[in-house]
Amino acid sequence: KYYNQVEEMKGKIRVFCRVRPLSESERERESSDVVATAEDEFTLSLNSQRGLKTFLFDRVFQPHEDQDMVFQDTNALIQSALDGFNVTIMAYGQTGSGKTYTMLGTEGNPGIAPRAFQRLFQLAEGSRARHEVHVCTYMMELYNDKLIDLLKPVSGTENERLEIKRDKKGSVHVQGATVRNVSSSSELCQAFEEGLTNRHTASTKMNVESSRSHLLIVICLTVTSKQTGNVLKGKLTLVDLAGSERVSKSGASADQLKEANSINKSLSALGDVIYALSSESTFIPYRNSKLTMMLQDSLGGNAKTLVFVNVSPAAYNADETLISLMYASRIK
Ligand code: ADP
Ligand code: MG
Repeated sequence: KYYNQVEEMKGKIRVFCRVRPLSESERERESSDVVATAEDEFTLSLNSQRGLKTFLFDRVFQPHEDQDMVFQDTNALIQSALDGFNVTIMAYGQTGSGKTYTMLGTEGNPGIAPRAFQRLFQLAEGSRARHEVHVCTYMMELYNDKLIDLLKPVSGTENERLEIKRDKKGSVHVQGATVRNVSSSSELCQAFEEGLTNRHTASTKMNVESSRSHLLIVICLTVTSKQTGNVLKGKLTLVDLAGSERVSKSGASADQLKEANSINKSLSALGDVIYALSSESTFIPYRNSKLTMMLQDSLGGNAKTLVFVNVSPAAYNADETLISLMYASRIK
């Protein structure tokens, strides 16, 4: 099972596919179910205009599998971050496929982020006799290849001074970012809620839909051994990517096209980096987008990366679903 494979996972990219249920309105419209999951937990078949195609994943979550089940297969990564790994968990897919549901969740159905926050402090508490754990966080929105600091109170748009930097050891940080120290899961949740509120305010002001930007939540961990004084640094990055859908050129405004272009560019850059890593290429093209620059120390190398590919089961989404599944199989 997956839990036992975490150690092997270093430097590797795992891809999980999650199929959301048909929504009520889709069921009313009798939009048929075109995604068929097999008996096993690893294959998924899609019936589209291009015929029946089967894809293989590290895990396929069917529509009935809930947030608990998803976290069961994810939570070992939280321990990895405390063990000094850079862990990235992200969600890829078209708008409406369930990325935010998976990464953040809803009020009654918390997703990976709030569960990870809780688990993190549970684990830290559990090892308190041996380790001292220091936690800090920052939160960024990436829109049109521009970074927006979400923990900074919104006061206009003078966020220009944010810069992605790498130190001598290769660790990435954002110069100028508001970094919040937190000492409990409720403080971490509070910072996170604040960031989401700021994101909402900023996007309303700029008239941007949240599905058109990437959201990055970064949690930095410093773990000091009480016996030896040895210090380990780990990092957990949670990413809710912008919607991957193609935007039709006809009828789109200039702003919408610019947005679409920027999203397309950054998602392609991400795919190229992951592909280069998984094919053990000597050149990894991190510098092609801010998204991949932000994730440079958290993909490949000493990192553990988990990508959720979220898909819709509805017939009217089959073309986009096929594109998402093809993106996913390229990075496998
Ligand atoms: P995205 O972030 O990819 O645009 P959302 O996460 O907002 O998509 O999901 C679209 C809708 O479907 C939301 O109302 C969400 O609550 C619902 N949804 C998504 N995935 C699931 C799931 N696995 N189970 C139940 N409802 C889901
Ligand atoms: Mg979303």
